Amino acid sequence: MKNKKMGEEPLSLQESEARLKRVLEGSEQGFWDWELPSRQFIVSDRFETMLGYEPGEGDFSIDNWATHVHPDDLAKAIESINLHLAGKIPCHQVELRIRTKSGEWKYVLTHGKVVRWAEDGTPLMMSGTHTDITERKKAEKQVFEQAELLDLAHDAIIVRDINHTITFWNRGAERTYGWSQEEVRDQDLHQLLETKFPQPQAEIEEILFRTGQWEGELEHVTQNGSRIVVASRWAVKRDENNRPIAIMEISRDMTERKALLTKLELQARQDYLTGLNNRGYFMELAEREIKKASRYGHNFSILMIDIDNFKMINDTYGHKSGDQVLITLADIFQKTLRVADIEGRIGGEEFAVFLPETDQESAAVVAERLRSSVETAEIPLHNGEVVMRFTISIGISTPTSADYNLYVLLSQADEALYCAKHAGRNKVCIVESSNMVDSMI
Ligand code: GH3
Ligand code: MG
Ligand code: MG
Repeated sequence: MKNKKMGEEPLSLQESEARLKRVLEGSEQGFWDWELPSRQFIVSDRFETMLGYEPGEGDFSIDNWATHVHPDDLAKAIESINLHLAGKIPCHQVELRIRTKSGEWKYVLTHGKVVRWAEDGTPLMMSGTHTDITERKKAEKQVFEQAELLDLAHDAIIVRDINHTITFWNRGAERTYGWSQEEVRDQDLHQLLETKFPQPQAEIEEILFRTGQWEGELEHVTQNGSRIVVASRWAVKRDENNRPIAIMEISRDMTERKALLTKLELQARQDYLTGLNNRGYFMELAEREIKKASRYGHNFSILMIDIDNFKMINDTYGHKSGDQVLITLADIFQKTLRVADIEGRIGGEEFAVFLPETDQESAAVVAERLRSSVETAEIPLHNGEVVMRFTISIGISTPTSADYNLYVLLSQADEALYCAKHAGRNKVCIVESSNMVDSMI
């Protein structure tokens, strides 16, 4: 005897209905039938239990089904049914909120079709299913909210695969780099951003895959061509076999903060009026140079410079003009001295210059050149009606033994400066550190 296969012989209507019922109940779906001429509307038990009713307890008729539907969803449901009945869409399918027995809303997907027509084409019977999609809707909402959170994040959040191809790019990334999500899809992330890494990429990958994360500063070029610095944190995502499948890079634009830091650092080192090194930074740089000189056995010299009769300049021309003198002197330093020389404003109208690899004789030449440049400089006042001139006195000290001590050398230069003042100002004076005898040039 041959085995009877499904579909070989037509099932009776009862058999087929029973089977359909089993299939549907098994799949947790409810179903409905609507006989149009008699206006009879039947829902399955599952539909009722879905909504918290006992089977047969709910009242779902063609005249009142709409009262169970969320008012905001009713219009689209009616429109969908009408379009289908008019033959304009192949099936009726909408997601609706339907009120449960306890008064809450459940998301239900209703899906239906005309299954029987009259000979003239009038629809006679429509049947369909009800599926509870509340959990799916909740999950969708959660994902949506999470995605929104990622978009709210100020940081650029980017996911790439291990071949560097971009797979996720949030709004923060759009704001940071300029390209939209669509523009970057399937592009190589670090090629696109022209990334400069702080260490070789092989080292980064080694750390990343060994520890699961990496952190560092990267340089990127944005869509409009500007260079930015970001603080970046990377994390690896692995599959169930522990194979890395994706890398998430979260980056924060540090460009402005870095620029501000540089500015603050500069302010902490610079004299605001002349732009020269301030006292503290001059001392730091001079100490560094002294260490270098003692290591390599190089000589050096220090100049101490003071503006002559500056109080009188202020009194005669005003404080602003006095400031102009200070700026002019700083300017003369820049023009007269070498790049390697270090100048500092170490007091109100006192300056020091560190001359690396310069013996006493050469220092005297430099000092004399400075003195004469200042003497001949003219500062026009009141639109050139008045010309202001000023002079400086300079003291030089050059170490004669290997006992380099910045403070001793500065005080020796100060002593030489005192000697220059004493000798009538606008002079250069050298102190012989070994026997402390001052000599005039
Ligand atoms: P000497 O030739 O002996 O050095 O005489 P001097 O008048 O230059 O010396 P003194 O130390 O008596 O005066 C220094 C003056 O420098 C006093 C002070 O008001 C002025 N001064 C200090 N800092 C500034 C500044 O930033 N701007 C101006 N315009 N004046 C300053
Ligand atoms: Mg002074
Ligand atoms: Mg002075």
